Amino acid sequence: MTALPCPKCEGATLREPSSGTQVLRCYECGGMWLAADEAKALALDGTIIDPASMLPTKAKASDARTGFCPKGHGLMIRARVEIEEDPFYLEQCPHCVGIWFDHGEWHRLASSRLLEHLSDFWNPAWQRRRRAELSEARHKRKLADALGEALVQSLDEVAEKITGHPLRNEVLAYLSGKSEGRPRPK
Ligand SMILES: [Zn+2]
Ligand SMILES: [Zn+2]
Repeated sequence: MTALPCPKCEGATLREPSSGTQVLRCYECGGMWLAADEAKALALDGTIIDPASMLPTKAKASDARTGFCPKGHGLMIRARVEIEEDPFYLEQCPHCVGIWFDHGEWHRLASSRLLEHLSDFWNPAWQRRRRAELSEARHKRKLADALGEALVQSLDEVAEKITGHPLRNEVLAYLSGKSEGRPRPK
């Protein structure tokens, strides 16, 4: 097999480490190329195949631009991965469905338990759902910081009890009336 070029580093080629997996690695940028089924198998295994410490980190610069499929199928397709406040992009070749991980990305997916969703990142419906969940969680965290966990929990209990209740609007109006006009401490 002729050496495949790294999608991110000019002049660098991908090499197979001695570990016996099909992972191809660039020793310049630390990125990894995996066939889709190989990625899936390793993901299900929960294998950590890029220990965060092993290579110099150029991850940010690599992540910022989309690479070409090392097998010559043209530009890959990016998928945004929201992790905490530091999102990044995975890349997949639409033709051979191989996946490119910039340095550290596999590790971050693994530690956020997102490896099992590897193929979902290119699914717009799944992405929309996940974004909505994340935004709800963020909102809740903000509320909890401001009001305290206990109050947010009570609110959740009330919300759960009135979900689908025929008197839901009346309950909300009651709460709104109750809380109105009383100065709340800042
Ligand atoms: Zn590289
Ligand atoms: Zn390809």
